[in-house]
Amino acid sequence: MTAEKFSGEIATLQKFFEIYCKGKKHNNIKCQKKSVEYQNNQYNYEFQLCDECFKLLEYSILKLENCPHDIKPRCRTCPTPCYEQNEWKKLAKLMKYSGIQLGLNKIKNLFKIKK
Ligand SMILES: [Zn+2]
Repeated sequence: MTAEKFSGEIATLQKFFEIYCKGKKHNNIKCQKKSVEYQNNQYNYEFQLCDECFKLLEYSILKLENCPHDIKPRCRTCPTPCYEQNEWKKLAKLMKYSGIQLGLNKIKNLFKIKK
């Protein structure tokens, strides 16, 4: 995948992870720094996450770095899934939770605009 797509994927992961971690009121949320290199580009990130969520995020980034697909399919429909089952379950739960939160926010924002 292109470096642009790669950084976009990480931005999405960041959004979903932070919503989940904050929404679930995890303990010890702190600034977690990580630099990622992809196709000769260096990216420096700061995530507001607890240690456990950060560990799962690092795992997801590692999988993303090693994704063999030029055009990345959605992980859910991937023909060659690379996540271990346990990690995948955790991530699926997280994405579902945050997806719902994001959906709710969208609806709330719609109402705001109408006022
Ligand atoms: Zn957390």
